[in-house]
Amino acid sequence: MTSNERVVVIGTGLAGVRLARRLGELGTPALLIGEEEHRPYNRVLLAEVLAGRYSPEVIALPAPAELRRGRVTGIDRDERTVACADGSVIAYDRLVLATGSNPVLPPLRGLFTEDHELPAGVHAFRTMDDCLGLSKAVRPGVKAVVVGGGLLGVSAARALALRGAQVVLAQQSERLMERQLDPAASGLVRRHLTDLGVEVHTECRVRDVRCVGGAVRSVEMADGYALDADLVVVACGVHPRVGLAQTAGLDVRKGIVVDDELRTSDPYIHAIGDCAQHDGVLYGLATPALEQADALAELLAGDPTARYTGTRSLTRLTLTGQDSPFDLAAFGETEALPGDDVVQLADATRGTYRKVVVRDDRLVGGVLVGELGTVGALARAWEGAEPLPSDGGPLLHLLTNDGGS
Ligand SMILES: Cc1cc2nc3c(=O)[nH]c(=O)nc-3n(C[C@H](O)[C@H](O)[C@H](O)COP(=O)(O)OP(=O)(O)OC[C@H]3O[C@@H](n4cnc5c(N)ncnc54)[C@H](O)[C@@H]3O)c2cc1C
Repeated sequence: MTSNERVVVIGTGLAGVRLARRLGELGTPALLIGEEEHRPYNRVLLAEVLAGRYSPEVIALPAPAELRRGRVTGIDRDERTVACADGSVIAYDRLVLATGSNPVLPPLRGLFTEDHELPAGVHAFRTMDDCLGLSKAVRPGVKAVVVGGGLLGVSAARALALRGAQVVLAQQSERLMERQLDPAASGLVRRHLTDLGVEVHTECRVRDVRCVGGAVRSVEMADGYALDADLVVVACGVHPRVGLAQTAGLDVRKGIVVDDELRTSDPYIHAIGDCAQHDGVLYGLATPALEQADALAELLAGDPTARYTGTRSLTRLTLTGQDSPFDLAAFGETEALPGDDVVQLADATRGTYRKVVVRDDRLVGGVLVGELGTVGALARAWEGAEPLPSDGGPLLHLLTNDGGS
């Protein structure tokens, strides 16, 4: 790329904003286009806004110089232009798709009105608007049902409970955050929610959303049991937002396929963040989005050797509350296969739990709940994938040495 080429970035989430900022620092300004009304913000902290701990301003991201509000509706690859919903057409030399994810809205009866909108009282949990809508509706005593017990559902249930709502969390599978946590850690998350007054139902499938006069009144389970609901949060996962790329004829599988230069099947178009699929992997997490943005900034600013080769990503959930802080971190494989070694330390009274899984002298995963003092050292040992000393002593040291914290 030459220095006077125009870089246009679609999406003002974590990935897009980081890329524009890094490019600015490297002397290659970019135009950033985003459809959300609000100043760019850190989506990871939305639950803290919902819990009433942070104001929206606190989670704002430093605004890049050239920011344009609006939705991009199409890409003309021959002309190298993008079309916006307001009718404007913008030329690019390099285009970057950082369009993120959409919430998954499962096929529940009654989930959509005739106008294909969510009924009043039903919210997704993805954007600042979702968060402000929920925040406005939640009051002490409000009956809230959270559908989904993954990272998002757990964060939403906890935030609503801290605001005084009577919360029921319905999780289809047998435990909470099953993608990240082993059964013991998952049990501690459940206990934490229960202590806050959240009623947790696992192996519980929601079938219907019942409305009266366009507003939600109850939620019905597959076994016919009905729960009264003034508020429903749909937290059933996300899928990458690939519509623009698909219509433009780019190679899209689950996400927009990119190579180590974060290039799509069109060499003038790149993709980063939740919408991108690199080496078969869709991350859907903040750290890979930021690392992809950094690598692409280097490339677009003229370093031909810069590459993105994947992220070994740690999931970290910090749920701070005045009386009930709750921290957890999970990485790699948290459940052992036959033949693996497992070191596990649990303290039921303090609600802490630490476990690592070792395979062929290598740390392959771990989970920490309640006490995260050792997380940095463990994550480094995992990322480095170096063989561990064979006597097990240093491993136990890694698990127990909290660095003084
Ligand atoms: C409540 C919540 C909590 C989370 N907690 C964690 C966590 O603890 N740890 C973690 O690692 N991850 C977490 N995540 C996931 C993390 O937020 C995402 O991985 C990250 O935001 C991805 O960044 P992104 O820039 O790729 O996408 P996004 O942040 O989704 O940004 C994409 C932006 O592009 C805009 N856009 C899309 N299409 C267009 C278009 N056609 N025209 C204009 N603009 C467009 C969208 O409106 C959006 O603003 C959480 C997510 C949520 C919702």
